[in-house]
Amino acid sequence: MPPARPLLLDLAPEEWDLGPGPDFRRKQLADWLYQKRAASLAEMTNLPAKLREDMASRYDFAALKLVRVQGSEDTTRKLLWELRTGDYIESVLIPASLDLFGERSDRFTLCLSTQVGCAYGCRFCASGLEGFKRNLTAGEIVAQIIETERTTGVRINNLVFMGMGEPLANYANLLRALRFINEPWGVGIGARHITISTSGLAPQIRELAQQPLQIRLALSLHGATDAVRAQIMPVNRKYPLAELLDACAEYQDKKRKMMTLEYILIERVNDMPEQAVLLARHARRLNAKVNLIPYNTVEGLEWKRPSDQVIDDFAAILKNAGVTATVRREKGHDIDAACGQLRLKQLQADAQQSSVELRA
Ligand code: SAH
Ligand code: SF4
Repeated sequence: MPPARPLLLDLAPEEWDLGPGPDFRRKQLADWLYQKRAASLAEMTNLPAKLREDMASRYDFAALKLVRVQGSEDTTRKLLWELRTGDYIESVLIPASLDLFGERSDRFTLCLSTQVGCAYGCRFCASGLEGFKRNLTAGEIVAQIIETERTTGVRINNLVFMGMGEPLANYANLLRALRFINEPWGVGIGARHITISTSGLAPQIRELAQQPLQIRLALSLHGATDAVRAQIMPVNRKYPLAELLDACAEYQDKKRKMMTLEYILIERVNDMPEQAVLLARHARRLNAKVNLIPYNTVEGLEWKRPSDQVIDDFAAILKNAGVTATVRREKGHDIDAACGQLRLKQLQADAQQSSVELRA
């Protein structure tokens, strides 16, 4: 059942129906929603009671309900949300590492979901396992930031679109969310602190290149030849490497920013030295740095991460070729940090629950 009332966060302030009244009410309401992260209309004490009543009858205020938090304050925390439609999504809160003096850093990155499930079906990923359900709306994307700050009390400085879903397949809502995040009345995180990760939708990469926003781009490459990439990423059949890398070159040319090539290392699938040599070539062409991610085991999937020796050798080939490469030892390895895994567990638990109910 689709929700009966529109979600307030899906609309820009100029689209809100506030009835008759002075225009500065829009500014006040935006301030409560985005700056003060108000939890309810009742908190908005400088708005007339009548207006608050009208708003409550016209709009839904809460986009997300917190179901579960996994992880601890010092490490990565994963938040599982229930949407108004009963679907589940997750966001991951990642603290910057401790600074030189051992003080706790106040810099936090939030990893956002953009879809319920994913249609791209990469063979190694938990998000695609249950198929695609629906796109998130702009408000549901932005609400992840506001609700995470409210529930955890931290201030988020950095955003990465690396959660569940393919952000560029939800292009219109993504752009709208980016506007709400960027605007002075909105969340107030600058484009330079935002990274979009894509499995390689070449036409949308070109479209994003035309946007004035200085967003960072991360490409999930995971294979340096069509043969290797197509084996684990079906999207490669639609947009083969030559076309994809050309689109990235255009992005790089327009933005003059350093891109990131993400490369999951999976044992005996893409961890061969020849792949490293070709990966280095792609990275140099795009002036990109490489982020090596040892594969995070997903229950039910057969892939394994390579040995530390193989990972180090792979990284050394890149470095010797003059490419900046980092190995991301997953901070959240122990809490199912790879996207989609917490939701998968919840879906499995729900399924078990309903089969128990059926039997009872
Ligand atoms: N759909 C987009 C963004 C979400 S996935 C994309 O594919 O880029 C974010 C990143 O997590 C991608 O690089 C993806 O390949 C990676 N990832 C997915 N499953 C993983 C796993 N089991 N271990 C490590 N990384 C994984
Ligand atoms: Fe979708 Fe990205 Fe997972 Fe591929 S890696 S299935 S594109 S979320």
